[in-house]
Amino acid sequence: MSFSISRWLRPSRPECPICGKTPVSSSQQQLLPVRHPKPRSILSRVCPQCLKGLPWIGSPVCRICGRPEVCPDCPKRGERHFVFCRSAVRYDNRMKDLLALYKYRGSEKLEPLMAAIVASAYERINKELAPREIRPYFHLATSVPLARERLEERGFNQAERMACTLASWYGLTYRPMLQRNRHTEKQSLKNRRSRLADMKGNFTALPSVKMNLDHRSPKPIRILLIDDIYTTGSTVNECAGALRAAFTESKETDANGVEIYGLLWARS
Ligand SMILES: [Zn+2]
Ligand SMILES: [Zn+2]
Repeated sequence: MSFSISRWLRPSRPECPICGKTPVSSSQQQLLPVRHPKPRSILSRVCPQCLKGLPWIGSPVCRICGRPEVCPDCPKRGERHFVFCRSAVRYDNRMKDLLALYKYRGSEKLEPLMAAIVASAYERINKELAPREIRPYFHLATSVPLARERLEERGFNQAERMACTLASWYGLTYRPMLQRNRHTEKQSLKNRRSRLADMKGNFTALPSVKMNLDHRSPKPIRILLIDDIYTTGSTVNECAGALRAAFTESKETDANGVEIYGLLWARS
């Protein structure tokens, strides 16, 4: 037998959740872009090299979509149903690899890390909207659903998982509020115009959204809509439009009675 009891008793050395190596030194806590202790402790396990490679979006240039550079898309958008969107990181090649690892290999180990990354954008949104508020600014949090075939194939919805973890950390009320009506072709292979056309009518609000509204509902109801990637904004806009449509149909409120904010893991 080559291993001994003492080896079992020794505390396991922390591994970087991205590269799997044991960090030589722990990440410098002051550089972490989150304040909440849970995401902070997860990010502090990332080794200094991997931490340096996380392309945080510190200050958005486009106030609407949160893009870190001048944005040609937002002025061209027709009707906008969301107030604004913010993303945690740029969708560069490293982030593509990380998301692919999580999505397609279902790497359970990466789940807390994905939520800890998106937490940075959540804290930034709160700072922008309600810097002194201690209670959550949002009344509800929800996520972009997957089509049923896609969900069956993958076994989980990454946006929902991130949203639920985030909600548990920050005391948000999470509710599934949307359904995806059809399975669309791989979005990354399409140009902007066909993506926009493809998304039209693709989402509807669940009946429970209307059922849960009554005269005691806050006005406006502020909803945080969570997804993994922002590309053209068509998914967030369609989801927000479907939610607003549900509110318009309810006699308890109208389209002005709801404000939807997008929170994205990455901005492509
Ligand atoms: Zn690492
Ligand atoms: Zn923009």
